[in-house]
Amino acid sequence: MCGVFGVSGVAEAARLTYLGLYALQHRGQESAGIVAVDEHGHSRAHRGMGLVSENFDDPGLGRLLGDVAIGHTRYSTAGSSVLANAQPLLKDLRGTPISIAHNGNLTNAPALRRELEDQGSLFDTTSDTEAILHLIARSRKVTPDDQIREALEKCEGAFTLLITVGRSIYAVVDPRGFRPLVLGRLQGGVVIASETCALDLVGASMVCELMPGQFLKIEDGHITELPRLRDRPESRCVFELVYFARPDSRIFGESVDRVRRELGRQLAREHPAPGAEVVFSVPDSANAMALGFADASGIKLEHGLIRNHYVGRTFIHPTQALRVAKVKIKFNPVRGVIEGRSVVMVDDSLVRGTTSKGLVQMIRAAGARQVHLRLSSPPITGPCHYGIDTPTREELIGATHGIEEIREYLGVDTLGYLSLDGMLRAAGEQSQFCHACFSGQYPTDIPEGLVALRHAVPSIAGLV
Ligand code: AMP
Repeated sequence: MCGVFGVSGVAEAARLTYLGLYALQHRGQESAGIVAVDEHGHSRAHRGMGLVSENFDDPGLGRLLGDVAIGHTRYSTAGSSVLANAQPLLKDLRGTPISIAHNGNLTNAPALRRELEDQGSLFDTTSDTEAILHLIARSRKVTPDDQIREALEKCEGAFTLLITVGRSIYAVVDPRGFRPLVLGRLQGGVVIASETCALDLVGASMVCELMPGQFLKIEDGHITELPRLRDRPESRCVFELVYFARPDSRIFGESVDRVRRELGRQLAREHPAPGAEVVFSVPDSANAMALGFADASGIKLEHGLIRNHYVGRTFIHPTQALRVAKVKIKFNPVRGVIEGRSVVMVDDSLVRGTTSKGLVQMIRAAGARQVHLRLSSPPITGPCHYGIDTPTREELIGATHGIEEIREYLGVDTLGYLSLDGMLRAAGEQSQFCHACFSGQYPTDIPEGLVALRHAVPSIAGLV
């Protein structure tokens, strides 16, 4: 997953982008980067591994001159976590700088890459995104507007993009609209971001959210709407609302907080926990769901688990032993809330089951009499091919085990997953959703072996 942020027509755009990226840090912690464009159209880039705060300092931002900039935070889902894959990518195209920041995954990336390499393209990265640049460069169309459109018509899957060509920024969302992108105004300029929380941070006022297929050109703070990309059935990612986006954001026409509370209420209706004395969340991702659960069930909400905020997400750690240790580093139970009680623990989702298993052990050790686990989404049964980092099917506990087996493995007294219908109802009627990771209904073709191809080991060590 990734976050993108762009500015046009505001002085010191790189400094603003740096601030905006802070608000999008949750969308990607592996690398961060900014490309800035000055008044002559010269572009400068800085990209580095790690967090936004680790990569930029005052002199460095001062060197990123200009009133146009785009930025990116990355969480790798295609291509490995190395500097070469950090974005925005910046290239020279026949004397004009072109840069790109991408959120999403192209489902036809391996095929595009093979085709482009057969035609002579040499790739510098293993990310999907570079294929888009090569397609633009190879277009025989005359204007950048048409070159970009022609390139994007060849792409399948999820692509929310910010592209600079000289001083213009192109903002586009793929025709299915998997990933969010919002547009705001600031001091006569334009700000564009993955989520509204980034507009809030820089003080921009929200103008609109880009609709699926929408294609904008932004020059010196002026917005031109270009013809939309060809029509496809809308397919907003429901997991953005369940887990990924920040609860203080509005995306897909919905308040993320509102949806999450409703997920919790619906969960309480579908899987009540009679006799339970206290409900708490796995913080922070399930906080709003636990509020909703408490609201609908009448069970008292407490803080039963405390999260250490100075640890990265546990999900990315490769070995099982390390993952278990990381659960303890990240969470600790509040004994006074838990001891001697029947408790309901609410989480947003279950992936491998490692976090929940570790938490249940801790809660039992803190003296819980009964533990009822409630999950605010259905079992995850398949990988995401559109930009969320999910492990292979074999590692997904919801794909390989039945509910009773999972309950036993986690060591809980009762286990309740929200139904697909319940989740979609809570997500609202404003959008049509992609729920492929829960339902197996993928809205695009998925080429055979896509996961393996996406993580294929490149021949150059630096790109591994
Ligand atoms: P697990 O221990 O593998 O079952 O992971 C479950 C936890 O990971 C839940 O508490 C979620 O909040 C969180 N989670 C779910 N999906 C992701 C993801 N794609 N990346 C990082 N964390 C996730």
